[in-house]
Amino acid sequence: LTVPIAGYSVKLMQGSFYQHRGTRLHYAVDMLAPRNTPVLAVESGTIGRLFNSNAGGLTIYQKSPDGKFVYYYAHLERYADNLHDGDPVARNQVIGYVGTSGNAPPNTPHLHFAISKIDGTSVFRGTPIDPFEVYNNELTAR
Ligand SMILES: [Zn+2]
Repeated sequence: LTVPIAGYSVKLMQGSFYQHRGTRLHYAVDMLAPRNTPVLAVESGTIGRLFNSNAGGLTIYQKSPDGKFVYYYAHLERYADNLHDGDPVARNQVIGYVGTSGNAPPNTPHLHFAISKIDGTSVFRGTPIDPFEVYNNELTAR
């Protein structure tokens, strides 16, 4: 997988997953970056849906080519132009821009990025996986 923000250090992803936020666990990594930094598709696949939620703000659910994983990108400032549900995307394609939509602090633009392994109960929700572990394992396997 490509890191969704160009040049972002995998080490910085460590420890964000499972961090408590109030009463909830946080099954994602928060990647700090300046507002409007491009957000890249971490692999090829399809846009599952573009969704505006109270918590996540402008979000993207991207499916892996085999449909076994969903990549979730939240708090976007905006989507890439002409991005639609069902569109195919290529690895490294710009799909949106870092922002503070939803419940992100207005002075802390960041990408909330999550990976789910789809287990059949829902097309978009499955078992959350720690992105740090995924990237770190890929690095050490090289
Ligand atoms: Zn987050």
